[in-house]
Amino acid sequence: FLPHLVASMEEVEQTYIMIKPDGVQRGLVGEIISKFERKGFKLTGLKLFQCPKELAEEHYKDLQSKPFFPKLIDYITSGPVVCMGWEGVGVVASARKLIGATNPLNAEPGTIRGDLAVQTGRNVVHGSDSPDNGKHEIALWFKEDELCAWAAVQEPWLME
Ligand code: GDP
Ligand code: MG
Repeated sequence: FLPHLVASMEEVEQTYIMIKPDGVQRGLVGEIISKFERKGFKLTGLKLFQCPKELAEEHYKDLQSKPFFPKLIDYITSGPVVCMGWEGVGVVASARKLIGATNPLNAEPGTIRGDLAVQTGRNVVHGSDSPDNGKHEIALWFKEDELCAWAAVQEPWLME
């Protein structure tokens, strides 16, 4: 069986997914990674990481003026996070669907936040909101040598 080129490079997106400290503390790491893995996306980077305050502030800088910003920075730096890069066609929007609405009480059952969380301030996981932000956030959270480009053998069985 000959693997073929399944997706043109322009279609392939990158997204930054992060399991927040509550997800790590609650033992949800394996379950959350499984959602993306079983869907058929490709892991390009993975690490457990204690986020410094400056990086949290940079990552969430668009929310700087919000009243909850200091609490958000405390939350994200309160313990280790799991940083991930995921790749695939449509991965940015699809990951956001798998994650569910920002407020877990509004998130659909079957989504990560819908099934596993209650409050916006403890919503377990982050996902980039656009392909441009996906690339930007992966570059922000990973060094180049922490990322892997690799061929997944399952690809011809996922993409026609
Ligand atoms: P997301 O893209 O769904 O994660 O949502 P946003 O980009 O709007 O917000 C980023 C993160 O800030 C959310 O995931 C929450 O962790 C946090 N956040 C957003 N709104 C609130 C809020 O009203 N209260 C608190 N405590 N945290 C919030
Ligand atoms: Mg966001």
